[in-house]
Amino acid sequence: MEISDRYKKVLVRIETAANRAGRDPSEIKLIAVSKTHPIATIENAIDNGINIFGENRVQEAVDKVASIGREKAEWHLIGHLQKNKARKAVQNFDVIHTLDSQKLAGRLERISEEERREKLSVLIQVDIAGEESKSGIKEEDLPGLLDFISGCKHLKLEGLMIIPPYLPDPEKVRPYFKRLRGLRDKLVGQNAFANGAGELSMGMSHDFDVAIEEGATMVRVGTAIFGERQKRKRG
Ligand SMILES: *Cc1c(COP(=O)(O)O)cnc(C)c1O
Repeated sequence: MEISDRYKKVLVRIETAANRAGRDPSEIKLIAVSKTHPIATIENAIDNGINIFGENRVQEAVDKVASIGREKAEWHLIGHLQKNKARKAVQNFDVIHTLDSQKLAGRLERISEEERREKLSVLIQVDIAGEESKSGIKEEDLPGLLDFISGCKHLKLEGLMIIPPYLPDPEKVRPYFKRLRGLRDKLVGQNAFANGAGELSMGMSHDFDVAIEEGATMVRVGTAIFGERQKRKRG
């Protein structure tokens, strides 16, 4: 199947899920997760009208952005950000979904200042599962991070993001989405977000329908648009 056909199916799924939840489909941003896929595939996607891409490795994204162009699309970092990659991330991404510590926030703030980046859009990745292997900030550490970010001139807090444990049955993931939404709603009441409402980045190929029912405003969809990924070579 071609990207154009898969993309159309994804748009129908988004619309159907939104309608089920009584939501306007246009309030849901589709982030096409292009990790591991070659530049030509992304260019093909752009020709099909896709204009937001998600990458999880900084260096891979840097190479793609250099070739395709910063202004051809919006680039979102959806993978863990190591501190030694922070500068490249600030230079190459429009939105960082994976802010998960005060230390990283401090670094992004300082680098944004140095790079004359007026505002860097960030989402906080929350670790709701409480699994030690997952990245993301623990709920109990969230107030401290929010307090810190409110003092950062260059960081624009857009919302919250979650990578739940992989559960094949999307209904089993629903409680995680609900929990993140509850957290977001609470923070809206505290005026935590730059745009008032607060984005919810949640849902992947197999469960984004459920995520939309639970309020997702950004869905991160790879396989359903691009097909199965090749396994990465190690190293
Ligand atoms: C790879 C990835 C996705 C997309 O996963 P698919 O199942 O291919 O849709 C979404 N979010 C993150 C953080 C990812 O790393």
